[in-house]
Amino acid sequence: MRINTSNDFWSKVAKQGKEQCWPWLGHINTQGQAVFRLAGVLWLAHRLAYYLTHGHCLDVLMRKCSSEICCNPAHMHARSRMTTPENFWQNADCRNPLGCWEWRGTRDKNGYGRVSANYDTLPAHRLAYKISHGAIPPGRLVCHSCDNPPCINPKHLWLGTPHQNTSDAVRKKRHAHGGRVHGAVLTAGAVKLARNLYKHNGPYNMTDLAYLFGVKKTAMRNAIRHVTWRHLP
Ligand SMILES: [Zn+2]
Ligand SMILES: [Zn+2]
Repeated sequence: MRINTSNDFWSKVAKQGKEQCWPWLGHINTQGQAVFRLAGVLWLAHRLAYYLTHGHCLDVLMRKCSSEICCNPAHMHARSRMTTPENFWQNADCRNPLGCWEWRGTRDKNGYGRVSANYDTLPAHRLAYKISHGAIPPGRLVCHSCDNPPCINPKHLWLGTPHQNTSDAVRKKRHAHGGRVHGAVLTAGAVKLARNLYKHNGPYNMTDLAYLFGVKKTAMRNAIRHVTWRHLP
């Protein structure tokens, strides 16, 4: 399979002068949005144009011009949620700079905060990391040094790989307690990701994956071996 590159992307943008609109010449989806698949991810073209130009793309990206398909990064205005912190940080008591800032909004079964953003719900601690430290590289996890899932204090968050997070958990002997990590429910996306991680024989065995996705090992084994979730490839 041929992987698209950023050059392929720009070849579909009719670049003109800095002031002018740069119309998208590539695919338009059924909702009339300019889209492009890069590295297996379907991007909105204007977000990708901004990302490739600035190296990051914040949650809110507005066009200053009126063209629906303009990809000129100079015509976009990125608004960081940091500039309106009340939207996000209001959901926790952030008065003690060194303490845990526990998310008061919705939490998932493992105690992690959930926040609605960009038509999706995201883990609050990941968004806290993103707002404070910038983009999270693909495949990386945001881990808690305080071991407190609802905490969103950026000083307590660090960027790890799934393997590091598991090692960290093992180090803290969290596996032995189990109570907090079990009880999550797998989703189709999680099952696909777990199967992929397992297939590629990375550093993840069934136990690691069960921990990472917060389910019991039998549930993970059944999902990976297609005993459950049979309708997924
Ligand atoms: Zn424009
Ligand atoms: Zn904390």
